[in-house]
Amino acid sequence: MTGRDLQPLIPSMAAHARSTYPLECCGLVLADAAGTPRFLPIPNVAGTRAAAGNSDRTRRDGYVMEPRALLEALEQVERNGGRLAVIVHSHPDVGAYFSKEDRDIALGGGGEPLWPDVQYLVISCRAGGVDAARLFTWNPQERDFAEEEVPVVP
Ligand SMILES: [Zn+2]
Repeated sequence: MTGRDLQPLIPSMAAHARSTYPLECCGLVLADAAGTPRFLPIPNVAGTRAAAGNSDRTRRDGYVMEPRALLEALEQVERNGGRLAVIVHSHPDVGAYFSKEDRDIALGGGGEPLWPDVQYLVISCRAGGVDAARLFTWNPQERDFAEEEVPVVP
């Protein structure tokens, strides 16, 4: 999926990021059988009992998707012949970059992504609103994530 494919979803993602600011938000871009993407917010449970054992971070500086909502979304999209395309989260006040923790989550502790076809979108949210978004796509030749700016319409 390219930044252009994702651009129509940016307003709903930005609204969600603003609604949880200054906490991180998270969600999924699910493509249906025809490849049409939609954004589905997933509650961020970082720092709560539901996240115990997954992360030491809180919602201020990390995200853990609510496990039941995540599972239901993935089961539903699979039943309908679609797929998980992009994992989305926001960065309050620190910019749209792929942090070390983001990379560790994507790589699952190894040198290869758990899901090489799944992309990551990081949305920068500040007090004034969303000011940047970047899409990170695994490049198997480079064995690294390639970065693409996704224009954000204020
Ligand atoms: Zn992050």
